[in-house]
Amino acid sequence: AVVTRFAPSPTGYLHIGGARTALFNWLYARRHGGRMLLRIEDTDRERSTQGAIDAILDGMRWLGLDWDGDVIYQYARAERHREIAESLLASGRAYRCYATQEELTQMREAARAEGRPLRYDGRWRDRDPSEAPAGIKPVIRLRAPTEGETVVEDAVQGRVVWQNRDLDDLVLLRSDGNPTYMLAVVVDDHDMGVTQVIRGDDHLTNAARQGQIYGALGWDMPSMAHIPLIHGADGAKLSKRHGALGVDAYRDLGYLPAALRNYLVRLGWSHGDQEVFSTDEMIAAFDLKAIGRSPARFDFAKLENLNGLYIRQSDDRALVDAVETILPGIGAQRGLAAPLEPELRARLEASMPGLKERAKTLVELLDSAYYLYAQRPLSLDDKAKALLGADGRARLAAVMPALEAVPEWSAAATEGAVRSFAETQGLKLGQIAQPLRATLTGRTTSPPLFDVMAVLGREESLGRLRDQLP
Ligand code: GLU
Repeated sequence: AVVTRFAPSPTGYLHIGGARTALFNWLYARRHGGRMLLRIEDTDRERSTQGAIDAILDGMRWLGLDWDGDVIYQYARAERHREIAESLLASGRAYRCYATQEELTQMREAARAEGRPLRYDGRWRDRDPSEAPAGIKPVIRLRAPTEGETVVEDAVQGRVVWQNRDLDDLVLLRSDGNPTYMLAVVVDDHDMGVTQVIRGDDHLTNAARQGQIYGALGWDMPSMAHIPLIHGADGAKLSKRHGALGVDAYRDLGYLPAALRNYLVRLGWSHGDQEVFSTDEMIAAFDLKAIGRSPARFDFAKLENLNGLYIRQSDDRALVDAVETILPGIGAQRGLAAPLEPELRARLEASMPGLKERAKTLVELLDSAYYLYAQRPLSLDDKAKALLGADGRARLAAVMPALEAVPEWSAAATEGAVRSFAETQGLKLGQIAQPLRATLTGRTTSPPLFDVMAVLGREESLGRLRDQLP
């Protein structure tokens, strides 16, 4: 059975590249009726934090990428890693190396002077440990093959070949007894029964190193798929400026998880010309062969358009729920907190059919509903202020008595009152309606004006008008 894993290092947030790696592993497992495991690679004790672990787990949950079984913590398995390093010593496939820091520094400097990568020269490979200098704690190194080739058959990169003479004897266990990343990954993937590794192609060279460890242990290596990294729209490596934000930032910017999933699946993977995929469609179509070899480009405009599409297709109540979930991040500056007052919730939901047509993010959606939750006196945006002007305020003052006289406040009644006022004054409807809109909503676009007035009710509507009178 297929087993994949997502293996983040908890040294920062779950960034967009990590989220895509997780998605691909999840899709592959679901596609093949297999399992996706989650392993937190927390062996770097200095840089791993609980906050980062929480951000990763939250981000995965929010994106709907559920993992199978319990989370596996790599550091908790250090004893097992040491045991395997010892077994390699016992079988002669590894040895203790007593090279000092100075010796290693010399090797590094010699390599730099000759312009070649650092290569440990194997000086303790065949030396008798009885010659070891006193007081030096050894590392354990793999006795790697010195001739021949190491080959990785990669589902994305194809057949990749390294000359063994270019690969030195890598460290398996540090002098403090802690396993290296290279050893830990191999032992864990083996013990977890991983059949398919899918990860960023920055790990491709590690695959050669890991292949040598698998060889020394006599274990089968999982199938490999190294996916190209994500680049910015300008082709440069993805940075914050390009959208290399944490998944939590996308949530707070108002993206829907389904839209982000859809966007991410198309970053580096394609299925004909299809752009929009339901989750079931993605699972059914996902295939490693269709992952391209060149870096995908992150395109914010495309993500926004997809998000707008998902917003338009969403159920009205679900949208209000989604807005509510991001209020802890964006509500305070708008005077809103979760949970929303039941009355406001109901108004928001009732207004969704009109509002969701234009919004690309939940934040835009919430802002376009400003008139529903605005507190008097409203703060008008710049366009609304400009539109209102002195003329507008004068017209508001003139129409006020007609509105105050409306017997039963309804869309039809206020519309009737405003229309007949415009006629008697020889004005076009827009000359009154626009200042009214700016005053009542603080914006120059809104749902139909008389609907807005009906939703707000007499008292609130007239109050907002009075606030703007000259
Ligand atoms: N922990 C590694 C990383 O976050 C991934 C290791 C792997 O997938 O083998 O880059």
